[in-house]
Amino acid sequence: MLPILLKIRLTTMAMAGWTTVAAPVPLPLDAVTLAYQARAATPVEVKLYDENLHVSATVLIDHLGNSDEATTKEIRHLFRCRVTNHERPIARRSLMMLADVAEMYEGRTIEFVSVYRVQRGESLTSPHRDGRAIDFRIRGVQLRTIRDYLWSKYTEVGVGWYPSEQFIHMDTRPTMHDTSWTFLKGKNHYNPYWAELARQPQPVLQARRGGV
Ligand SMILES: [Zn+2]
Repeated sequence: MLPILLKIRLTTMAMAGWTTVAAPVPLPLDAVTLAYQARAATPVEVKLYDENLHVSATVLIDHLGNSDEATTKEIRHLFRCRVTNHERPIARRSLMMLADVAEMYEGRTIEFVSVYRVQRGESLTSPHRDGRAIDFRIRGVQLRTIRDYLWSKYTEVGVGWYPSEQFIHMDTRPTMHDTSWTFLKGKNHYNPYWAELARQPQPVLQARRGGV
């Protein structure tokens, strides 16, 4: 015979349409907070490859985009402006997203094309100039997959798809509108179809695909 409280809880979960088995006793808030903090502070191994200079490096970045002092320096150097050799700190939120994709495609190498850019001709409003943008691809993963993953998960971002050049542009833009584009034949095409699709609720997508 189930204790009455557990029974009530199971009934409530059934009424709410829960299909997974949940712990009958909720975790204390402190334990949840601690588990979250522990995960946030756990470093992710990010394997990098500089496609211009053909240099490989592996760095540890945690789920909040932080790294230790030596690694932070190393990242600045790896992601420096290729024309001027200037370095600057890379936005923590952009590094957080980088760690996220590294974890999502664990073991894969992230080939970066361009990060910090400060040379003459770079737009004053370019997120590359601010150290907020990373152009990259991941070996063995389709660009479309990375693009849709980022766009469906994050807000206050810019995601650009460069199918001819074979990379994804990803930037963080706090407090600004999300921007998506496809770069084709020398031009940005904003609000492309893929961005609309990637953010549609799953049931709508399934219905479109004829699934259940
Ligand atoms: Zn870019």
